[in-house]
Amino acid sequence: MRRETDEIRMVLGAWFREEGKDYPWRRTADPYAILVSEVMLQQTQIATVLGPKDYYRRWLEIFPDVATLARAPEDAVLKAWEGLGYYRRARNLQKAARAVVEEFDGVFPSRAADILKLPGVGRYTAGAVASFAFNLPEPIVDANIARVLARLYDYRGHIDSEPGKKFLWDRASALVAGEGAREFNSAIMELGQRICLPRAPACRDCPVAASCASREKNPGELPLKKARVEIEKVDEHVLFCAREESILLHREEKGRRREGLWRLPERPREELAGLPLLLEMKYSITRYRVTLRVYDAAAPAKPGPGEKRIPLEDLPGIPMPAPYRKAVETILADSTAQLELGPGMV
Ligand code: SF4
Repeated sequence: MRRETDEIRMVLGAWFREEGKDYPWRRTADPYAILVSEVMLQQTQIATVLGPKDYYRRWLEIFPDVATLARAPEDAVLKAWEGLGYYRRARNLQKAARAVVEEFDGVFPSRAADILKLPGVGRYTAGAVASFAFNLPEPIVDANIARVLARLYDYRGHIDSEPGKKFLWDRASALVAGEGAREFNSAIMELGQRICLPRAPACRDCPVAASCASREKNPGELPLKKARVEIEKVDEHVLFCAREESILLHREEKGRRREGLWRLPERPREELAGLPLLLEMKYSITRYRVTLRVYDAAAPAKPGPGEKRIPLEDLPGIPMPAPYRKAVETILADSTAQLELGPGMV
């Protein structure tokens, strides 16, 4: 087994040195910058993070270190995250920065066990920061690596069961042991992203094909998972009330998923009956498929709890979930187009 493990490490390392992609977070050993990249990439594609909006670079420009992020106002943090969705990640990043300042005297911890104590950091992220920033032999298992490991070792149990998780973490630990953890973890992750693809693994191009136990046994059917959670349809009925250069908005209360973000105020469906429908759009968030319907307020609406009139000129500077930003901008541009947003764009 040890020989096989060494062989996989060696071959994968050589492949990565030749073929590995050059991402900005691979050019740094700053644990904070690596944490930012890991948190951004948790539910967002690389292409979005590095795309036209350049979220990663922009974030590091606004908050170049933990101290700056720790003392930033929440609005600025949410605004910088706008468009990436799952805003809890931004809040946790700030909490983690504060914890580094307050509990580690501003010095980012290097041990995975200490990194794990930071808010919002789980086993994967702690291992990623420890291995990518400090080159420590800490394992990581994300969806890509889980797929590679299940196929490499022809694991036929459910990878999301407790024994399945243990199996994957044990294998990842055995493979990363020794020197060169940064390179190995990057390499196996990239193998999953580019070669060992979910439906059609490109086994012919795979550097570890000779060691792969499932290669001849239809690896595309692996990994196995427990039954999937059903998609649930949800309706959101909201009011568009823009009068005299201001718009009525609601700020999400503490404890809500979109805490601190501004959105169009929700109203019971009966209250909106008879009002003109301005726009209908669909978006996805986790297991929910949401239909957002925006109605035109016939008369000036009285602000409810948590609601406020915001000057239209202030709109670009306040944090807003992406579907609501899109809806408001579309209506203000006098369009009634049917819109469709991809998963996570909230
Ligand atoms: S041989 Fe195929 S199934 Fe096995 S690790 Fe490589 S790409 Fe994945």
